[in-house]
Amino acid sequence: MATALTTIPTAGAGAALLEPMLLPARGPLASAGVVGGRLRDKFGRAITDLRISITDRCNYRCVYCRTGNEGAQFAELRIEDYLRMVQAFVGLGVEKIRLTGGEPLLRSGLVEMVQELASLRTAYLPDGTPVTNDCLGLPLDIAVTTNGHLLAGLAQPLKDAGLSRVTVSMDAVDPETFTAITRVPRSFEKVLAGIRAAKAAGLGPVKVNCVLLRGFNDAQIEQFAEFSRREGVIVRFIEWMPLDEDRSWKIETVVTMEEIVARLNGFRPVVELPPNASSETAKRFTFDDGVGEIGIIAPVSRPFCGHCSRVRLTSDGKIRTCLFSQTDHDLYGQMVRGGTDDELRAYIRGVVMKKEARHHIGEPEFEKPSRSMVHIGG
Ligand code: SAM
Repeated sequence: MATALTTIPTAGAGAALLEPMLLPARGPLASAGVVGGRLRDKFGRAITDLRISITDRCNYRCVYCRTGNEGAQFAELRIEDYLRMVQAFVGLGVEKIRLTGGEPLLRSGLVEMVQELASLRTAYLPDGTPVTNDCLGLPLDIAVTTNGHLLAGLAQPLKDAGLSRVTVSMDAVDPETFTAITRVPRSFEKVLAGIRAAKAAGLGPVKVNCVLLRGFNDAQIEQFAEFSRREGVIVRFIEWMPLDEDRSWKIETVVTMEEIVARLNGFRPVVELPPNASSETAKRFTFDDGVGEIGIIAPVSRPFCGHCSRVRLTSDGKIRTCLFSQTDHDLYGQMVRGGTDDELRAYIRGVVMKKEARHHIGEPEFEKPSRSMVHIGG
């Protein structure tokens, strides 16, 4: 039976600022987090990862993501509002937080937010034991997904604030193709500098995400392999999903895992690596000499919904239980209407029970989701 959780312990500089909302340390409010155990959906999947969009704004207009004409469409909240919602999730067992957007590095207060997140501790130990007065929780795993444009100047401050890892989206390894995708001149040099700064700051292993589009950047698979080996970063190819703003997705444009592996093998024989965790989305490969690492994330050709451990919070404070959900759930609304911490946790539990079994990409019953990737937070 679950014992009472008395607090989500905080430590370090951030504790003072968070105190009013993080330290209802004892009694029924705090203990409510563990009533019902760790957050699970009705299929028994433990929800341990939260992705938060902290702004709907983006400084790139990537052709496969945005129309190029639309700007931000949804509000952004105060940093302390996101933090209170994060606290509710952490009290239920979330241990990984990924900040995304829009473009999260555009958001003022990001470094301070990371500092606050770094002061939180998990509510459960890795073996599932609830944290009590006698045992401390662990630091959260805090990551950022960014286009890297502003990363050169922010990598070290983010590392110093307590960021664990960074993933940089980079869809080409030559400046011309890169500019054609981002529609921002001289963007490649900025992102490359950002990747190198992240490595130098100790935010490794840096992951570089590339969405492959047939006829656009798929000629670069081998160059990306070279890039991984040369720069010492993990390159991850991601299949394009029907989440683009202008709804131009076609299955013919998706470059599948099978094709990518065949092309990599033509470059140099690949060797499959074991997964780091059962919920890992990427299949991992290295080459026959052990230099370089390539991950392939194949939500279209090889869905991994059965292992999904994620929920998302949009910049305007709505929970999304799947990228392909048709509805949002207004956690921020619950909060501004005066919801107590207990009530927020109960609301989250109820929402998570509605998490979809899987997506239906490529099936006749597939319905376009109610938001596109840039307005959800990838
Ligand atoms: N601006 C940040 C960035 O570029 O990483 C964070 C937001 S962006 C929406 C997050 C990730 O989603 C990026 O890696 C991007 O390549 C990916 N993405 C966007 N649209 C996608 C789609 N339709 N299918 C697959 N990945 C997509």
